[in-house]
Amino acid sequence: MKLYNTLTRKKSDFKAIKEKEVRMYSCGPTVYSHAHIGNLRAYIISDTLRRMFEHRSYKVIHVMNITDVGHLVGDGSLGEDKLKQTARIEHKSAKEIAKEYERLFLKDIKKIGIKMPSIIARATDHIPQMLNLIESLERRGYLYKAETGIYFDTSKFKDYGNLSGTDFKRLNSSLIGGARIERPSGTRNITDFAVWRFSPEKEKEMVWDSKYGRGFPGWHIECSAISMEYLGNHFDVHTGGVDHIQIHHQNEIAQSEGATGEKFVNFWVHNEFLKVNGSKMSKSLHNTYTIEDLEGMGISPQGYRYFVLTGHYRSIMNMTKEALGNAQRTIASIHSFIERISGYDAEGKPDREFIEEIASLEREFFEWMEDDMNTPEALASLHALISVVNKCHSTGKLSKAGRDAVMATLLKMDSVLGLSFKEHTETKPLAAEPKRLIEEREKARQSGDFKSADEIRQELKERFGIIVEDGKNGSVWRRQ
Ligand code: AMP
Ligand code: ZN
Repeated sequence: MKLYNTLTRKKSDFKAIKEKEVRMYSCGPTVYSHAHIGNLRAYIISDTLRRMFEHRSYKVIHVMNITDVGHLVGDGSLGEDKLKQTARIEHKSAKEIAKEYERLFLKDIKKIGIKMPSIIARATDHIPQMLNLIESLERRGYLYKAETGIYFDTSKFKDYGNLSGTDFKRLNSSLIGGARIERPSGTRNITDFAVWRFSPEKEKEMVWDSKYGRGFPGWHIECSAISMEYLGNHFDVHTGGVDHIQIHHQNEIAQSEGATGEKFVNFWVHNEFLKVNGSKMSKSLHNTYTIEDLEGMGISPQGYRYFVLTGHYRSIMNMTKEALGNAQRTIASIHSFIERISGYDAEGKPDREFIEEIASLEREFFEWMEDDMNTPEALASLHALISVVNKCHSTGKLSKAGRDAVMATLLKMDSVLGLSFKEHTETKPLAAEPKRLIEEREKARQSGDFKSADEIRQELKERFGIIVEDGKNGSVWRRQ
């Protein structure tokens, strides 16, 4: 399987450190508000990657953190903790805010077909591990004290900048893009960051005593401490959005490799951003959407997941109502296709050629998935399979063996797509809308309005794949 590695800036064959086991880490959410669908793009991608590893028979240990402390407002290292800010506004404790948004996040990822990570670790449950890591860094001479906290001296880490391929000197020129960068008092380099931040005496919430003084951890240290706690000093894959390459992930590398002297992560996998009507998704532009917002617009969680998979994970995607609507219609038609063929009484003779064609499309699908998770091309193979089946079905030739082969292939494809195909394999009772239409048609027919009856029959066929036939004892319906 080939994967693009941000660290080497090329696609290469994935090789696990331990045979048959993949250890992977994904930066989790900061639980001070709802995850927006851009965040969920990142988690759909890491879930699809995990599913690919499992498809290739690896045992996957997938760790995700929950940032429930220490993530400051703004990109710099100054400002208020985002959680404490929300707690202040909502008159709740930071703990209550974190607990509530963590619950909502886990509900969202379940809805969207994301498998639960093997370990979900809260930052506040790992303060001792973070302090241990800070002590190792102190012993190795990477830290110094400034006015607001204990800082990592990035000039001492020789590979600083290797992840984004940016030179340390350029990163630290105090004029970046024409603007002078402010830095916290007493710090040495622009890229230096706090591993521990001091809290004022009066602060009662989310503070811990330590040998460095009363305070709370810097945001970056939690990912280094949590990932190494569960996956070891050196593990296979780390995922996240491209926004984290330059600062957060670079800092994770500096802290982890600085403390252990070992290589931290082999493969860095980054997803590109989801934009809204061409703009960045951000609270200040009022264009962030949640899964609930989408549901209100008639887009199901599977519809959104399908939409995400129509783009390559390394391409910027643009969300428009039209694109979401198309994705919703397509996933609904795939689901109804699956319902239709699972309820179909296959009678034709087994057809070797057909079964071979299905097997070849399955191979093609996985070849695309193994080529740096090329989901748009893989979906094209899925659609090719659906047309082959529809063609065969319409000529009445689909055999039971053929149908079983199709179902097995679809379920294998869905084991990596995560689009709930299995739930549509049972023949279900009629949904409310077709049921209502059938009743309406029956009334029209009985009152002699055959024109309306014919129109409704056509609608049932086109929208739901339901065939209605009139017999002596009234009309009967079946799935196409
Ligand atoms: P955060 O809580 O900001 O760390 O975000 C959680 C994850 O979502 C990170 O991996 C981010 O890189 C990613 N992310 C944030 N915004 C977007 C977006 N608009 N599109 C895709 N990924 C995003
Ligand atoms: Zn992280």
